[in-house]
Amino acid sequence: MADRGLLIVFSGPSGVGKGTVRREIFESSENQFQYSVSMTTRAQRPGEVDGVDYFFRTREEFEELIRQGQMLEYAEYVGNYYGTPLNYVNETLDKGIDVFLEIEVQGALQVKQKVPDAVFIFLTPPDLDELQGRLVGRGTDSADVIAQRIDKAKEEIALMREYDYAIVNDEVSLAAERVKRVIEAEHFRVDRVIGHYQDMVRDTVTVR
Ligand code: 5GP
Repeated sequence: MADRGLLIVFSGPSGVGKGTVRREIFESSENQFQYSVSMTTRAQRPGEVDGVDYFFRTREEFEELIRQGQMLEYAEYVGNYYGTPLNYVNETLDKGIDVFLEIEVQGALQVKQKVPDAVFIFLTPPDLDELQGRLVGRGTDSADVIAQRIDKAKEEIALMREYDYAIVNDEVSLAAERVKRVIEAEHFRVDRVIGHYQDMVRDTVTVR
């Protein structure tokens, strides 16, 4: 049976460029991991595709899935639900394939409770001015929502200590490279591979 895949939790404040770095990672790597498409109740933005960028659902539908225990994690973020459907994650990990979640901090903390051996990577902005500039430049949110997102970002940066790695997004291609290197190295952690070696030790023969 294949080893269970690694659960990679990639998060950081809204506007830091998680989506851009994630796309760079997926375009440039040999696709060793699968992206878990999240579910949300927020309105679909122009160009977004249901089932690709998100599964877009009503609040009622989302709350029903929460009641049924079908979300690995979920959070209410700036007035909307966002969450990770559980079945896809479990089925993919069981096949031995790594799963990559791109989620905000409250959700990441829930995953940490449920899956402590996941890898937690925090993407940071070089500074808050740059973050504000990106949110304004994206042109998708009102000034009021941008102000809420900046406040939220400050709270989120304070929770960085809950993560295993902090990676600065000074340049997308560099940030993507750093994330890939972290994931590669995580596969070699002794506590992940020791099971293979225990058999070797158990069957040791004494050579005289
Ligand atoms: P946006 O509205 O900009 O697409 O996303 C807002 C925030 O929700 C981002 O920080 C994004 O990473 C986060 N997010 C997206 N999907 C999920 C999810 O499944 N769970 C949680 N907890 N956050 C998510």
